[in-house]
Amino acid sequence: MPKVLEPGVLYVSEKYSTAAHLCACGCGEKIRTPLGPTEWSVRDGSRGPSLWPSVGSWQRPCRSHYIIDNGDVHWSTQWSDAEVQAGRASEQARREAYFESCRPHFSFWRWLRNLFR
Ligand SMILES: [Zn+2]
Repeated sequence: MPKVLEPGVLYVSEKYSTAAHLCACGCGEKIRTPLGPTEWSVRDGSRGPSLWPSVGSWQRPCRSHYIIDNGDVHWSTQWSDAEVQAGRASEQARREAYFESCRPHFSFWRWLRNLFR
């Protein structure tokens, strides 16, 4: 992975089976997501990449939680410590719309693949 990541770019290394990007909230934290059948997966879309499942920056100060879908960031709820420990809360979807509306829009319109051969 490069030392400096650009915001709004999803970096994918197929060789190392990992992806990385800067936290979508703009805090500058580097988020690494291992790729694999039991981990994250990246999909090519017509408007940009999709990363599944959601990204949760629980160890970071911002505690961001979002889904990258077709080059767009969909903000999800910020979980409390108890919720994080309990795993994925079932009421997540209910609160999604509210949080989505009060977060800045951030588009992963650009991404790089096989950058680190
Ligand atoms: Zn952040």
